Amino acid sequence: AKAKGRNRICFFDPQMQSTVSYHAKIESDIRIGLRQQQFVFHYQPQLSDERRVIGAEALARWQHPKHGLIPPKDFIPYAESSGLILSLSDQLIDTACRQVSIWSENPATAHIVLALNVSSKQLRQPDFVQVMKQAIQRHGTDPTKLKLEITESLLVENIDDTIGKMKELKALGVSFSLDDFGTGYSSLSYLKRLPLDQIKIDQSFIKDAAINEKDAAIARTIVALGENLGLDVIAEGVETVAQQEFLQDSNCRLYQGYLFSHAIPADEFERFVTQMLH
Ligand code: C2E
Ligand code: CA
Ligand code: CA
Ligand code: CA
Repeated sequence: AKAKGRNRICFFDPQMQSTVSYHAKIESDIRIGLRQQQFVFHYQPQLSDERRVIGAEALARWQHPKHGLIPPKDFIPYAESSGLILSLSDQLIDTACRQVSIWSENPATAHIVLALNVSSKQLRQPDFVQVMKQAIQRHGTDPTKLKLEITESLLVENIDDTIGKMKELKALGVSFSLDDFGTGYSSLSYLKRLPLDQIKIDQSFIKDAAINEKDAAIARTIVALGENLGLDVIAEGVETVAQQEFLQDSNCRLYQGYLFSHAIPADEFERFVTQMLH
């Protein structure tokens, strides 16, 4: 491993990244990782304006025996190009359902709704709903404590199929959030057609919202749009008090970002929830 950027570990030599042998190596490493359950979640708290932890976003990490903790951008693309994303996703769905059932046993965490990222490849699988249902059953998970984050880019193909799957899962109690809102193809007709519960304002708008009038206007408009459509609105990438105050003044009441916490392992998350209660 080679240091790159600020405290980022690069998986292998970047100059090798385009070579066939690099792909073959990382692919076989991912296969081993799947067998040895090296893929884990860290959980980033989601808070209400009363500083109550209401949920978490599950963010995948690869706990690699040699290279340490690897962020999703360094393995999701390879998992996708090799087709291993499907096995990986199945494992992660299982992990998420197991975690939700564990949290439901503890009064301090029983209310937590866990948001899971779903890639376009995953949602296009004919058995996606089945995989979700089986994991829910296996762990006795309360489906109302599961939220799926989808992105606009995955909606372009086969929107009717996607809507059908969403409706099936919603019938169980699973909710849906539209991630990275405002950065994709952003057809407003999606908002009308999709059975959504929440939109998530992309962090790029939050970044300068407290200082840039245009970003502020976009963020406020998304909040109003959500309000008018009866959807929750959550802001991601909240890093400063100024940003949170801006959001609060704009009627956005749900936040996620480094101001509160990074994504952390489950046991740390549980401590974080308990601390915020006092
Ligand atoms: P995303 O879904 O937009 O997730 C938010 C990303 O922003 C996460 O990066 C999170 O750690 C980071 N973040 C959170 N708060 C802040 C903040 O205050 N400031 C800044 N600058 N960043 C913040 P992460 O964990 O590296 O994940 C990157 C992307 O990888 C995710 O973007 C998502 O698209 C993908 N990803 C992560 N886990 C999964 C997974 O289980 N399945 C799939 N399909 N994709 C995943
Ligand atoms: Ca997300
Ligand atoms: Ca996002
Ligand atoms: Ca993003």
